[in-house]
Amino acid sequence: MPIITGEDYKKRIDSLKSEVWFAGNQIESKISAHPAFRGVIKSQAELYDLQNDPGLKKEMVFVSETTGSEIGLSYLIPKSKEDLAKRREMIQHWARHSGGLMGRSPDYMNTVLTSFAASLSVLEEEENCYPERLLKIYEDAREKDLSFTHTFVNPQNNRSKLSFLEQDITNARIVDRNEEGLIIHGAKLLATQGGITDEILVFSSPGVQDSAHSYGFSIPSNTKGVKFICRESFAQAGSVYDYPLSSRFEEMDSIVIFDRVLVPWDRVFLHDNIRAATNLYANGKFIPFTLHQIASRQIIKTELLLGIAQKIVDTINISDYQHVKSKVAEIVKGLETMKALVLKSEYEAGVDSSGVVIPQKQPLYVAVNQFQELYPRFAEIIQILGASGMMTIPAEENFNTPIGSQLKHVLQGVEVDGKNRVALFRLAWDMTMSSFGSRQTLYERFFFGDPIRLSQTIYQTYDDSDSQKLVGRFLSKKADQ
Ligand SMILES: Cc1cc2nc3c(=O)[nH]c(=O)nc-3n(C[C@H](O)[C@H](O)[C@H](O)COP(=O)(O)OP(=O)(O)OC[C@H]3O[C@@H](n4cnc5c(N)ncnc54)[C@H](O)[C@@H]3O)c2cc1C
Repeated sequence: MPIITGEDYKKRIDSLKSEVWFAGNQIESKISAHPAFRGVIKSQAELYDLQNDPGLKKEMVFVSETTGSEIGLSYLIPKSKEDLAKRREMIQHWARHSGGLMGRSPDYMNTVLTSFAASLSVLEEEENCYPERLLKIYEDAREKDLSFTHTFVNPQNNRSKLSFLEQDITNARIVDRNEEGLIIHGAKLLATQGGITDEILVFSSPGVQDSAHSYGFSIPSNTKGVKFICRESFAQAGSVYDYPLSSRFEEMDSIVIFDRVLVPWDRVFLHDNIRAATNLYANGKFIPFTLHQIASRQIIKTELLLGIAQKIVDTINISDYQHVKSKVAEIVKGLETMKALVLKSEYEAGVDSSGVVIPQKQPLYVAVNQFQELYPRFAEIIQILGASGMMTIPAEENFNTPIGSQLKHVLQGVEVDGKNRVALFRLAWDMTMSSFGSRQTLYERFFFGDPIRLSQTIYQTYDDSDSQKLVGRFLSKKADQ
């Protein structure tokens, strides 16, 4: 089966009828019509349609070696530096559609699964590991253009250093192994887009300490006993003018409860093997491939922020002020740094024994860890530049009343009437201040892990031997040399 269309995606998700809980009720109706989900499902469907767009298709698909069908480029295992560049361009085409605001556009999880499929050697000859099943899961997903959510993290009830000594009562764990498969019971968080994807990929938390918590599997989202519990929706009821971003890109985050879920053996690629779980995460291709996807998307998001910042500057005519230029320049510096780091990762890519080309990990770690600090600062810059403009944002309906023409007049900016000026500030507000905008900041801070621990990983894994050698040369010099 070749790449799907947006309509195919919608139909598939509606027919799954996964167990999704929202505002105290289980959603029984069509999920693609539900107010909390219809915006993001429509946007996701548009992404699938982009793969079929005659103008873009060449850059969004490749031909499957096994079936000869056209399949999504996000499933491509790169075999050359050109492949890496093609992957970046595909990621950025999709990211442009949402301004990079859909962290879980399908290329994110497709990349995760592709990275696992490119890391099968990590599982070979390991106890309770089945690389051939992982390959089958990947090939199935690739050929059917399946969508995924994932959940890796344990519930946040005890994060002390010695928490592993406590009796575990909440984390999803293997409670039984029988002829049919594993029985999983407990909870995991978070699953962004939980309930609106074909499958859910479930994996142990990094640093797992207990064999019953070491597993890796993928199951359909409607598997019996899997429940997605949603937070409130940040997609407000209102026009696209009023909520230009949240009405379209609110992805939803859910807690996932596994209620004695039977995971059939053919869907399990790892269980009861702490070492393999750690290795697949840390020593396979998960980190470099996934970071490459993330940083490529974040570049587009930064371009959007820069555009908004400069539009505010022009609209209220504040470009003469030195601090204003410095603040916009801060975004420019971040953007150029991100672009350079991604290109460096491609330029310095290595090849493994199976011919897979792997982007260099360190520049990508730096890009993504840096963005965890840059993004909140960029949001702050928009607020500082926008000032009261971030609050003078009457809803669209006000412009259709007898006071509409007054509003257009008093809220005007440089060469724009009030309605157009408010449209810009509503965009800035939805990006950085609405509940959707604040979630974007939290997302960029945390979704790939705690920034503090990520910086520690950079410290621990960075090869500073050249620096050490250089210092050595200076230290070995005698005073008279
Ligand atoms: C919007 C959003 C979407 C997400 N989507 C997904 C998803 O789709 N799938 C998924 O699997 N996960 C998802 N996550 C979860 C994400 O991976 C975690 O937020 C991240 O790994 C941090 O874990 P935590 O939230 O449990 O924070 P915690 O680990 O509980 O940290 C809380 C605080 O304690 C500090 N702390 C805790 N332990 C340590 C330690 N050992 N050393 C130093 N400091 C420590 C942290 O620095 C932090 O300040 C999402 C998160 C967010 C916010």
